Amino acid sequence: MYYPDTIQKLIESFSKLPGIGPKSAERLALHVATKMKEEDALSFAKGLISVKRDLMHCSVCGNLTDKNPCSICRDSHRDRSVIAVVEEIKDLIAMEKMREYRGLYHVLNGVISPMNGIGPQDINIPSLLERLKNEEVKEIILATNTTIEGESTALYIAKLLENTDIKVTRIARGLPVGGGLEYADEVTLLKALEGRREIINNNK
Ligand SMILES: [Zn+2]
Repeated sequence: MYYPDTIQKLIESFSKLPGIGPKSAERLALHVATKMKEEDALSFAKGLISVKRDLMHCSVCGNLTDKNPCSICRDSHRDRSVIAVVEEIKDLIAMEKMREYRGLYHVLNGVISPMNGIGPQDINIPSLLERLKNEEVKEIILATNTTIEGESTALYIAKLLENTDIKVTRIARGLPVGGGLEYADEVTLLKALEGRREIINNNK
């Protein structure tokens, strides 16, 4: 090894981040070691510890939060009769950035994926069903991604909600096929939300 152990460890840590190759990891570690102010480095370290220790999943919707329930679930100005079901927290963030959607969320934290051995029980589907028993929900917007797994997860949830009095809608196509909500620009996402179609009409 060319570097002292402390720097070597830091290089290894940086290289575990997405999009950071060995060269970048080396550059970042050297920057921290030689250029970064001590107070900035300490604040960075504290931030890393804090996001792992102080953050939890909201017990209602699965969002990441430092207060349980999360600020969205606690917000009395939001429309509690509508729940958008999304795959990941980053999808919730993408929808929040639109500043148009005023309902609640349910974060699945994954998708059903038989190939990867992930079934309905392995993601937040049971907690969604539990929630629907206790809350007055009129509409579920299935806002999973437009990948095959996202579509089949949406279909699976829609089937579960057949013969309930909840309207089940799916965000419209127009989103890039195979893509995640996070990659859609805000206008496209808003159009997809506005153009959502009913896939189960429980009120007929
Ligand atoms: Zn929540």
